[in-house]
Amino acid sequence: MQASRVAFHTLGCKLNFAETSTIGTQFIEQGFEVVDFKGDADVYVINTCTVTENADRECRQIVRRALRTNPNAYVIVTGCYAQLSADEITKIDGVDAVLGSNEKFNIFSIIPEFRKDAPSCIQVTPTEKLEEFNFAYSSEALGRTRAFFKIQDGCDYKCTFCTIPQARGKSRSRKPEDVVEEFVTLINKGYKEIILTGVNVGDYGKHIDGSLYNLLLHLLKVDGDYRIRISSIEPNLLTDEIIDLTLNSSKMVNHFHIPLQSGSTKMLKLMQRRYKAEDYKNLILKLNKTIPDVGIGVDVIVGFPGETETDFMETYNFIKELPISYLHVFTYSERPNTEAIDMDGSVPVSERKRRNNMLRILSEKKRMEFYNKMIEKNVTVLFEDENSNGYMLGWTSNYVRVKQNFNKELINKLSVNNINGIDENVCTTNFVNNNSLNLIGEK
Ligand code: SF4
Repeated sequence: MQASRVAFHTLGCKLNFAETSTIGTQFIEQGFEVVDFKGDADVYVINTCTVTENADRECRQIVRRALRTNPNAYVIVTGCYAQLSADEITKIDGVDAVLGSNEKFNIFSIIPEFRKDAPSCIQVTPTEKLEEFNFAYSSEALGRTRAFFKIQDGCDYKCTFCTIPQARGKSRSRKPEDVVEEFVTLINKGYKEIILTGVNVGDYGKHIDGSLYNLLLHLLKVDGDYRIRISSIEPNLLTDEIIDLTLNSSKMVNHFHIPLQSGSTKMLKLMQRRYKAEDYKNLILKLNKTIPDVGIGVDVIVGFPGETETDFMETYNFIKELPISYLHVFTYSERPNTEAIDMDGSVPVSERKRRNNMLRILSEKKRMEFYNKMIEKNVTVLFEDENSNGYMLGWTSNYVRVKQNFNKELINKLSVNNINGIDENVCTTNFVNNNSLNLIGEK
């Protein structure tokens, strides 16, 4: 008998979430009901990540959890970790299929029947042959507010800590005309914020004679009440053209997420990043000078091999002085087949944790400074559907988390609100009016 309930578990980045969503749609089209991963399902799909620390242990635990709920369920493991370590995954008891980065989109042609008694299925396209572009988007909340829209995949960079290029292959982009067509569909479905997502979004268009800037020009011609956010962009790819466009288009948000990784040029060189600390600083100062109330998120890695206390403090002080609004802090962990794993100067794990903790505290300080700076300003907010103890939550265009008394009239609309305080790390707002798409520089 054909199985009918499927459950998904996703690890890692927004791109993986977008892709799980697409796989979910395929299952629904085949008549499946999507249930919670904690629930009783006939098929469990685990979309893995290679960036996750202890990917192997985590994967084992999730498989076990699924089989505890239903020992007869068919278990599929896919995603970046499956692409890189298929053999190890097949050794996990209870796994029925291991599918690589491309194969995850073709589950139904690869596995016509989800039968536990069938021999286990392993299909992984070698990474150097990962050339296909598989479309994906996902919505964040149940309501149609924000959509993560995949426009690019893979990466041609060679950062020495990173396994993503091995797991996802070379950089490739969805054709601009297809992106625009799908973008229009998303807007017509009612999404008010589209988050352009990929592995290296700033690299969009490189191999198809295009660029992210040109794509944005096309997208911004689409009529409608929406705003565009770039999920993350490498500092060397955030061009003056994109900054000007952000300033001049009311549909571009005044927020960027820009990986730094280290504030020490020595460490950046070891990591094979494509900029110096000074370049990064100049970019952040330029953004602050040019774009009113710009929100800036920063990725940083602590404990990379060779990072001395002095190097770490250089990073700490570098970030402390920069006008940024929050950090995403990652603790370095050794990954097979990377250059970094063979580097000298391994940092003790306890020290990596201490550094991580220091930066997390700094991040909270930065966030609160930024939130305080926004008090009494008018901002454009997109409120979400959920009623949480009488409040609704939303994001401003410059990525401040805000809340307000629940008012269903404001759900999934871009409305102007006034920030009047901070409560439990979230800004509180009052409704001002419904008529603004002037996302930048609201006063
Ligand atoms: S830019 Fe560097 S860190 Fe980012 S995916 Fe490419 S190789 Fe990895």
